Amino acid sequence: MNSSHPYAERYPVNTTMPATGRDQAEILAELREIAVAEDAVWERGQCSGTMYCGDHDHYGFMAEAFERFAHVNALQRDMCPSATRFEGEIIAMTLDMLHADAVTEGEPAGMVTSGGSGSILHAVLAYREEARNQGIGRPNIVKPETGHPAFDKAGYLLGVEVRRAPIDPVTTRADLDAVVDLIDESTVALVGSATNYGYGTIDPIEELAEIAVTRGIGLHVDGCLGGFILPWGEELGYNVPRWDFRVPGVTTISADTHKYAYGFKGTSVLAFADKALRNGQYFYVTDWTGGKYCSPGIEGSRSGGLLAATWAAMVSLGRNGYLDRARGIFETSFAMQAAVRSHPELRIMGDPTFCFSFTSDVLDIYHVNDAMRDKGWRFNGQQYPDAIHMAVTGPQTRPGVVERFAADLAEAVAFAASGPTAPPATGAIYGGVAGGLDDDAEEFIRGVMAQMMDEHQSIPTR
Ligand SMILES: *Cc1c(COP(=O)(O)O)cnc(C)c1O
Repeated sequence: MNSSHPYAERYPVNTTMPATGRDQAEILAELREIAVAEDAVWERGQCSGTMYCGDHDHYGFMAEAFERFAHVNALQRDMCPSATRFEGEIIAMTLDMLHADAVTEGEPAGMVTSGGSGSILHAVLAYREEARNQGIGRPNIVKPETGHPAFDKAGYLLGVEVRRAPIDPVTTRADLDAVVDLIDESTVALVGSATNYGYGTIDPIEELAEIAVTRGIGLHVDGCLGGFILPWGEELGYNVPRWDFRVPGVTTISADTHKYAYGFKGTSVLAFADKALRNGQYFYVTDWTGGKYCSPGIEGSRSGGLLAATWAAMVSLGRNGYLDRARGIFETSFAMQAAVRSHPELRIMGDPTFCFSFTSDVLDIYHVNDAMRDKGWRFNGQQYPDAIHMAVTGPQTRPGVVERFAADLAEAVAFAASGPTAPPATGAIYGGVAGGLDDDAEEFIRGVMAQMMDEHQSIPTR
């Protein structure tokens, strides 16, 4: 686990408010040192997901856009009509990409949220409010098991039951019969992913939409990960089944601008096939002594800087820019998948595209992961079954990364096949290995949270 006081050896630890301010140049130098060291972790292209762009010129460009508006509160539009322009155009460009022009019933609209979880939260809120209007007391939504935990979190926060339908273990896509079995008269929406995070596979959205239309309920497509890359993959000729607003019955789509739209962390778009669903979840108080208050979403004050930077990222790339980047990512992903398939001991889960997951029926995949980790690779670990996943991003498209992946994987498979006697070191962190996480999950999670949150925030004794 990580230390609660990283950098304690190199820099001062602040456990109280410093009595006097520090020199700004010294602070910036310290930050630069830390950032350069931490960037080195992913610069070699060995880290799954998270650094979707990886291009420092692009980051610098967005930082300039951010800088101009970072101090602006996007809630106060009289002072910053620019926020209306940035937000409106981010939404319009996203709706265009998602083929909202194909919507025949309703008026497409959207909102910019703080991230994928924020978009999912607002979608669930919109469906809950719709349920209330229909007099449904305890609404539920049905997600395939592979749907992101953000749905469960939204359910937890908003009092909406989230039912999990098992998936088809071979294709890793939603099992439609299992979904149908969970629907009842209090179901307000279904969920499908394009793609899901774990396996990078796309649920059968057209079939889910048919079910939703028949039942008269919503369908949220979680495109947090795939939303800003699948459209370009489709244009490039890759096999991407339809999942966006061209499918009648898709009522909301989440697409993260802070992933494959290459914006800064902190923005996502929630798109609605019909404005009415969005407008149903606005919040307002008209009789507050402080004045009339309204906000479109859960946040109050929001940074104009993030809107400006996200907008700048999108208009600076445009269709061509996104297509170019997607081409590199899709080609890299399929080359990496070919390296995985060259080992009969390994098995790719389902039929993925830019993001893939693999397991093994004969080796402990976490022995493979151990050996890859020693060579500097950082994958995301999975369980039931144990598997490891790679979301291919900009840094992997750099020259030599695929070749290094193939060579290191061959050595890692040889290591796992050599019959290591020690249990895998990384399995205890990620997988459901023998005597592993399941029993002590709660204690483990508390430990992780404590180190992230509690200890370095604790008030020191004087
Ligand atoms: C990242 C992700 C989310 C959650 O998004 P955050 O931005 O981390 O809040 C939801 N669904 C999928 C498929 C994702 O990849």
